[in-house]
Amino acid sequence: MDQYSLQLLRSAVRDVMDFPQPGILFKDITPVLGNAALLKMTVQGMAEVVKGQHVDKVVGIDARGFIFGAMLAVELGCGFVPARKKGKLPWRTKGVDYALEYGTASLELHEDAINPGENVLLADDLLATGGTASAALELIQSMHANILGSVFFIELEFLKGREKVEGYGPVYSLLTF
Ligand code: AMP
Repeated sequence: MDQYSLQLLRSAVRDVMDFPQPGILFKDITPVLGNAALLKMTVQGMAEVVKGQHVDKVVGIDARGFIFGAMLAVELGCGFVPARKKGKLPWRTKGVDYALEYGTASLELHEDAINPGENVLLADDLLATGGTASAALELIQSMHANILGSVFFIELEFLKGREKVEGYGPVYSLLTF
């Protein structure tokens, strides 16, 4: 993606102080989602990272990862798999507990959502400490998928989340702060 487009995207991300807790500078992506041109640029930019590779499934993380992940799956012509918070998926699940930038949580996948050997790309809105993404990647790996990597709209570099996820495959982000 060209520098001008990246600059447009960067300036559309809104900083919200002290949300959802004091001390957190929340990156609000809704101004990007609400703009047709920026939304398209984002999806196309995220899809570029796996250009020329066959992708079977995009796994998107609850909840903003569903938005990016599902759009990305349509763009790539592959399936979408939701990694959901504990207790939300109706069928048999595999789960993992993990630590967040603010709090703790659990993620689950349907146990039949990914077949062994499938080419899987992980997608989420933002990479912070990497706890969420590495939990999802651990689950995906336990299903014997071929992990193509992880793609994020935003990476908060100072939190060094990349160090937690790059062991599973290449890490891509459109914007870094
Ligand atoms: P982490 O596990 O620390 O990498 O946190 C990543 C998840 O938390 C992502 O799914 C984000 O949606 C959310 N998140 C964490 N920190 C922020 C932030 N500063 N602004 C927006 N979302 C965040």
